[in-house]
Amino acid sequence: MKIFNTLSGIKEEFKPIEEGKVSMYVCGPTVYNLIHIGNARPMIIFDTFRRYMTSRGYDVNYVSNFTDVDDKIIKAANEEGVDSKEISERYIKECKKDMQGLNVMEATTHPKATEEIDGMIEMISTLIEKGFAYAAPDGTVYFRTKKFRDYGKLSHKNMDDLDSAFGRELKVAGGDGKEDAQDFVLWKPKKEGEPYWESPWCEGRPGWHIECSVMAKKYLGPTIDIHAGGEDLIFPHHENEIAQSEAANGVPFAHYWMHNGFLNIDNVKMSKSLGNFFTVRDISEKYDLEVLRFFMLSAHYRSPLNFSAELMESAAQGLKRIKTAVENLSFLIGNAEDKDLSPEETQGLKTAEDFVNKFNEVMDDDLNTADAISTVFELVRHANTTANEHSSKKYLSGIKEIIVRLMDILGLEAEAGSELLDEEIEKLIEERNEARKSKNFKMADEIRDQLKEAGIILEDTRAGVKWKRA
Ligand code: AMP
Ligand code: ZN
Repeated sequence: MKIFNTLSGIKEEFKPIEEGKVSMYVCGPTVYNLIHIGNARPMIIFDTFRRYMTSRGYDVNYVSNFTDVDDKIIKAANEEGVDSKEISERYIKECKKDMQGLNVMEATTHPKATEEIDGMIEMISTLIEKGFAYAAPDGTVYFRTKKFRDYGKLSHKNMDDLDSAFGRELKVAGGDGKEDAQDFVLWKPKKEGEPYWESPWCEGRPGWHIECSVMAKKYLGPTIDIHAGGEDLIFPHHENEIAQSEAANGVPFAHYWMHNGFLNIDNVKMSKSLGNFFTVRDISEKYDLEVLRFFMLSAHYRSPLNFSAELMESAAQGLKRIKTAVENLSFLIGNAEDKDLSPEETQGLKTAEDFVNKFNEVMDDDLNTADAISTVFELVRHANTTANEHSSKKYLSGIKEIIVRLMDILGLEAEAGSELLDEEIEKLIEERNEARKSKNFKMADEIRDQLKEAGIILEDTRAGVKWKRA
């Protein structure tokens, strides 16, 4: 597997710290409102990465936080006249609902910043002891950026450039107790009406960057395999996380840094502050959310992706094409003969396996989901042209299983409706036939109802019972 590593600026072969395992931290949302579809992009992308790595046999420890203390949360709480915990808890719940709709798996751990304050105080204390941080007279603690030699290594900025970028600000620095304009906040004093915690420096709350450094260390260890998020986080958030973690722990923080490109509208980044956004909830009113997932995966994760009604419509149609093919296969399976594979079918299954290899090859190349989806389409075309009512049950089931499996790796359900497997459906139909033969019509009707509930429609024909998925 090759991953484009923001740290080195090139695609690198992925080598895990521990054989067969992946430790991964993905920066999660700040929970003060419903998430927009830009926020959903990293969720979908890195969930797909996780699913793919799992399919290749890795044991993935996936940690993604909720930032539940922040100016925006406090502002929302003040506007509503409620506690900020009420806001954050409400939107964590809503975010989880959206994630479920998008088929984003629960993380191994979803830590919340407010439950990790002790760890933050501990890391900040270590940084002060080591001379990497200092407390200003008002109790604000800053990270001493100039002391960390590697500052800028992720965003590929050097100190001189940063100094000139901050030049104007430097002139006004000093009033806030900062030694240098580039120093950033680790702990800040509370303001009236804000949530706060006791600390050695003042009653206050942590800065945003320290939260992730602490949660990654606690749940994954001081050095992790992969750290990920949207590309807007490269600077300063991830740069600052590296500075804090490496200064405090004395070891590299993350071996690979993955960043997704922006979801845009009219080529402008979708964001709450610009007001050019759709929430995931908005989209769910018009589409099944798997269409949004399919749309996101249709582009390479590092490319910018423009959101438009036309592209969503074509995603909906593309997904439907795949589902229809699978539905047709199911219908054919319901009526197919149990016979050996013909030589053509043996070849046909080999061709299908070639598509699996191609799928893995493109996914191995820095998670090229766009090409992976094209491969699924090729496979579907192959299924549509080779499967028919003369095909053996073995062939039809084999090819269907491959389509379903590849879609499953992408977090998409190719099979609509029923959770029942084909074999289970056929067993139930057989039982219903037996019941009818022995004139147990009540039982026969019950089985029919059970199947109907699972989205299976039965058709009594002269040739026997046929079935299809609704
Ligand atoms: P936030 O709640 O703003 O901290 O964002 C949570 C995650 O969503 C971060 O990984 C951001 O980089 C990502 N994100 C926010 N807006 C966009 C966007 N328009 N496109 C892609 N990712 C985004
Ligand atoms: Zn973070």
